[in-house]
Amino acid sequence: MTLAIGVDVGGTKVAAGVVDEQGRILAKLKRSTPAASPARTEQAIADVVTELLAQVPPDQITAIGLGAAGFVDSARATMLFAPNLAWRDEPLKQRVEERLGREVVVENDANASAWAEARFGAARGYRDVMLVAVGTGIGASIIIGGELYRGRWGIAGEPGHVRVVPDGRLCGCGNRGCWEQYSSGNALVAEAREFARRTPEGAMRLLQLGGGLPEGISGPEITQAATEGDPAALRCFQTVGGWLGQGLADLAAILDPACFVVGGGVSEAGDLLIDPARAAFERALTGRGHRPYAEIKVAQLGQDAGIVGAADLARQTTAPQTTAPSSPSSGPPGPGAFMRSTSTTNPATKAATAQNTANPDSDQCAAVATTR
Ligand SMILES: [Zn+2]
Repeated sequence: MTLAIGVDVGGTKVAAGVVDEQGRILAKLKRSTPAASPARTEQAIADVVTELLAQVPPDQITAIGLGAAGFVDSARATMLFAPNLAWRDEPLKQRVEERLGREVVVENDANASAWAEARFGAARGYRDVMLVAVGTGIGASIIIGGELYRGRWGIAGEPGHVRVVPDGRLCGCGNRGCWEQYSSGNALVAEAREFARRTPEGAMRLLQLGGGLPEGISGPEITQAATEGDPAALRCFQTVGGWLGQGLADLAAILDPACFVVGGGVSEAGDLLIDPARAAFERALTGRGHRPYAEIKVAQLGQDAGIVGAADLARQTTAPQTTAPSSPSSGPPGPGAFMRSTSTTNPATKAATAQNTANPDSDQCAAVATTR
């Protein structure tokens, strides 16, 4: 049995675990992130890894992976920008390797989570998957033909900033009308507070849970009220879930995945969010009624997904010979079919992979046909 260490580096905590080949976590550690200092964050990462290495025979650990919240470059070595950490063009891979004296593999945290869900969680067995993490904002990750699609510069999968309402709500990114302003934890809270201000007599339960003021209403209170059947809270989920489903239909028009996995904090509300999302998805899907519909599932691995995915990606990168061959073509693809195999890689993925290894400046324009 080979083991790998996965580290999930977020803005507030560094969580790490020893993960086996079936995606099970055998040991786990958590520390707060000294987010203001790149060097101290890197030391915290090295410290948790060192501590875990001491708990198992070192020769059993074949790989170490970091999933970090931010834009990781296409070489998977440099953290270009991290909104909640002090990393700016930080050579993260090199810095952590210097401290550990061992190779590490760096990945974006949403990519790590998506990989874990596709290998061991809600999307197990699917080769074309999109993970949409509905939290404070919207994060996303794309898997095509069983491989992560990272884009030319490593930062593909930011649909939260696709404009869905012209001149709509102002977004933290500086634009207006971004999807995440209508379908996220922040959007859910904004809906509830606005409703409570406008129609306090219809929002009595929400106001009661929020301490009497609209500003006191936050995500957990809305979920609680909706679970109790409160009409105002259910309406908020209908609105935000509706925007989610419409956005997923737009993404299906581009990527045609077999499965959407909805993760992030808001997904913990389960069917309260997913039922209206599915209904809106089916109403908005292009070609509806005459095509298969992608599945929309809630993420299964919760907060452990980042650890499991970072470990498994590192194992695949560091020791690809340990992966199993693809399963036979009969029946739905099993977990083995998901693993890397050049013989089953589709042409689009090959092109994307080739882009990173061949001439870096060629073949990077998307063709846009126009009738004008
Ligand atoms: Zn935006």
